[in-house]
Amino acid sequence: MNIENDFRMLIGGELVTGSATFDVLNPATTEVIAKAPDATAADLDAAVAAARAAFPAWAATPIEQRKAKLNELADVIMANADALKRLLTSEQGKPHGDAEAEIGGAAVWLQSAALLDLPVTVNEDSPERYSETRHVPVGVVGAIAPWNFPMILAMFKLAPALLAGNTVVLKPSPFTPLATLKFAELAQEILPAGVLNVISGGDHLGPLMTAHPGFDKISFTGSSQTGRRVMASAAPTLKRVTLELGGNDPAIVMADVDVEKVAEQLFWAAFGNNGQICIATKRMYVHKDVYEPLKQALVAYAATVKIGDGAEQGTRLGPINNRPQYERVLGLIQDAKDKGYEFVIGGEKSDLPGYFVPVTIIDNPPEDSRIVQEEQFGPVLPLIKFDDYEDVITRANASDYGLGASVWGADEDKAFEIAQRISSGTVWVNETQHITPMAAFGGMKQSGIGVEGGIEGLLTYTVAQTLVRKHK
Ligand code: NAD
Repeated sequence: MNIENDFRMLIGGELVTGSATFDVLNPATTEVIAKAPDATAADLDAAVAAARAAFPAWAATPIEQRKAKLNELADVIMANADALKRLLTSEQGKPHGDAEAEIGGAAVWLQSAALLDLPVTVNEDSPERYSETRHVPVGVVGAIAPWNFPMILAMFKLAPALLAGNTVVLKPSPFTPLATLKFAELAQEILPAGVLNVISGGDHLGPLMTAHPGFDKISFTGSSQTGRRVMASAAPTLKRVTLELGGNDPAIVMADVDVEKVAEQLFWAAFGNNGQICIATKRMYVHKDVYEPLKQALVAYAATVKIGDGAEQGTRLGPINNRPQYERVLGLIQDAKDKGYEFVIGGEKSDLPGYFVPVTIIDNPPEDSRIVQEEQFGPVLPLIKFDDYEDVITRANASDYGLGASVWGADEDKAFEIAQRISSGTVWVNETQHITPMAAFGGMKQSGIGVEGGIEGLLTYTVAQTLVRKHK
């Protein structure tokens, strides 16, 4: 097969190949599909210097013009949606339909951010003095993205950062750099040189970024484990941080739920993108009255879902994205087997060539099992029986994570009461994973620091500045 070599980084308005490359694999086949530039420390220095040089003019550009640029970026994404979708499927594994939705979402995110404005608060307007607090850009932002939603999660950062007047150096995950590098090529035509720089590289590059004194802020999405390292590394130069980290989201399914109606939604809550969603349902607590029927409905629905290469017609679930994650998920399955837990479905090895794991449901494992306590980030769901609401709320909250959660039931008010007692950044009732560019999204506890989305997310890319005029 042809290995593509024409992926370049965007540094200071130039597309550069860099001095070395690394392999990018298609997880459905494990074949190398492209070589991406492996940025050196010197490439990073050049990107930071370009972002710093571009900052004063971009910060001084009227916000309406910055908004227009975000809309142009959205337009160019949509004009190239088909090519971006194919690249995304080939490097990430997700089916074409999901890749298309992600690319469309990335464009919507840019357009929606462009509807926001930076507020000004008048603190005092008296004969004696005028005082206002405004929000000025932080400076140069280092944006670090994960591999599960490479494009949309990059836009979660770029859109507010650029809107607020910052310049950016973006680094995609080494597992999924391709669509982001193509986007950078498109953005070169739209943004002034240095406003957005995109660099790709192996494991060395993230730590170099977080320690680099030229960044004023690091916006990171990834695991809680890496998030701790990011925060420690950002501390010596007191960089601001936004950390969007892992989750172990509980779903609480109440006794009065309409099983037939919710089974499909609950299936996708847990297994969408193969469970590789920060806010996937990772523990499903089901009331004992509906436990058996829901279990059967999930099994029946799973049988209708085609697993395979995301580029093939009809595929609903692709492979796991990369070998380390594949091995981690297999390790959790093995642990459940070793402990003698019952498997409702799945657990066997797939005979497909790539990193495929069948949809796996584990029958009522103990609360202290690894599959309940850890973030699996894969298509393995513990289904857990409960019969007491107080108890299930306690269990749902007994986690260091606090990203998302959902409550499902016919009695919406009761479900909402439960929702208010869950310690998670977002709690949904009778739906899940509904994220909008207009609402704050972030984690409680060790699921993160700061938020993205909405005016609250925008303000994290600014510093408050109070200006005071004493009248004569
Ligand atoms: P990861 O932490 O391994 O990597 C994320 C990014 O950080 C990658 O670009 C990686 O190259 C880089 N990186 C790795 N080590 C680094 C270091 N020491 N310093 C700086 N950067 C470093 O995460 P992942 O495996 O790519 O993503 C999966 C995790 O991300 C899951 O835990 C998931 O829940 C979480 N996630 C969270 C959100 C959210 O919004 N809260 C969204 C998506 C994914």
